[in-house]
Amino acid sequence: MSKNVDERQQAVRDEVKAFAEKEIYPASRELDQMAEPRKFPTELYRKVGAAGFIGYAMPTEYGGKGKTHLEYITLVEELCYHDAAVGLLCAVGELATYPILHFGTDEQKKKYVSDCAAGKIIPAFVLTEREAGSDASNQQTEAVESESGYVLNGEKIFIMHGDAADIGVVFCKIKDKPKLSAIIVETDQPGWQARTLKNKMGMRAATTGGIILKDVKAPKENLLGDIGKGFRYAMTTLDSARVGVAAQGVGICQRALDESVAYAKKRIAFGAPIAKLQAIQWMIADMATRLEAARCLTYKATMMQDRGERFGKEAAMAKLYASETAGFCVDRAMQIHAGYGYIGEFSIIEKLYRDQRVLEIYEGTSEVQRLVIAGNVIGR
Ligand SMILES: Cc1cc2nc3c(=O)[nH]c(=O)nc-3n(C[C@H](O)[C@H](O)[C@H](O)COP(=O)(O)OP(=O)(O)OC[C@H]3O[C@@H](n4cnc5c(N)ncnc54)[C@H](O)[C@@H]3O)c2cc1C
Repeated sequence: MSKNVDERQQAVRDEVKAFAEKEIYPASRELDQMAEPRKFPTELYRKVGAAGFIGYAMPTEYGGKGKTHLEYITLVEELCYHDAAVGLLCAVGELATYPILHFGTDEQKKKYVSDCAAGKIIPAFVLTEREAGSDASNQQTEAVESESGYVLNGEKIFIMHGDAADIGVVFCKIKDKPKLSAIIVETDQPGWQARTLKNKMGMRAATTGGIILKDVKAPKENLLGDIGKGFRYAMTTLDSARVGVAAQGVGICQRALDESVAYAKKRIAFGAPIAKLQAIQWMIADMATRLEAARCLTYKATMMQDRGERFGKEAAMAKLYASETAGFCVDRAMQIHAGYGYIGEFSIIEKLYRDQRVLEIYEGTSEVQRLVIAGNVIGR
């Protein structure tokens, strides 16, 4: 398979390359190296939104570009090729808007989706808690229902853009009601306290927050969908987002491979380029082969999504394989670059190495993906 299975994908790659040269490369290093406390890169986020990237696969009637999921996934892959943290900025905007777009009322969509798609407001997907990571249904955040709406109390952790968000899709238990629900919360409400988590290993331009909710109010009309269906909304959103994480992995793999090939051709050892050494060739062959497999799985899951088929198992397979393959590729790239890979002053490999690691953790760890796959293959 070449890089593209669809002729429209090349146009996406060209569009992202032009954006990257103008907006990403000038900002990339500074955003990665920013001193603590880090600040959410609002200006860059607005540019990503204004370019139409957050709403790439959202319907035009809600301010999106109406592209296919395959085009959107290509966009994320290509953004991550240039800077994985910027690809993540875009992917989180999409992830956090997804539940409103798919389970919200017309009024909620009109009120929030267009502005999210345009990058004018920053949404967050607010699920994880200290005791509810992989065990996501073990939510302690509680909403009490009254005549006028909901009052929420609880604590959330590891929330992408949670420190800067204008709205959060907050998953919680509604008192005296069964199971989980989801409520759209506007973060300018009193009692919403957010902070930026410090010393994140990679993906540093896209900040991650911890949130305390203390008597935070949301009106009745901000309940998302039906009471008790929040867990299903979260898992459906994650199926889609997992293909996005797979695309992040493919972009990182491709960059690690391209950098390695270029470096191996120019680095001289024992009087010849190291690309002549079989030890190096085999590493490159393994990287190229696994990248191809990761890309195939990722596009397959996306094309199933575009056809309206069930794709949860394929999304988990793509996420698992592409994120672990990205780990393999950044490790081999580091070995090929040796000292010039380990020291970030000389190449991007050190950054790729840091950015990759979280792909095996967020939106369901590799172990959770294996549970999902096994559940589908064996049956529950
Ligand atoms: C940078 C970053 C960004 C994130 N962004 C968001 C976000 O925007 N919104 C959000 O809601 N969350 C977000 N998360 C949270 C993320 O989804 C969780 O960290 C992840 O689901 C794992 O939860 P945990 O960290 O609590 O690990 P735990 O659930 O405590 O897992 C610890 C270990 O046990 C393993 N384990 C747990 N249960 C099982 C099991 N049943 N079988 C086998 N192994 C198991 C795990 O795989 C892992 O190895 C983010 C996390 C990070 C690090």
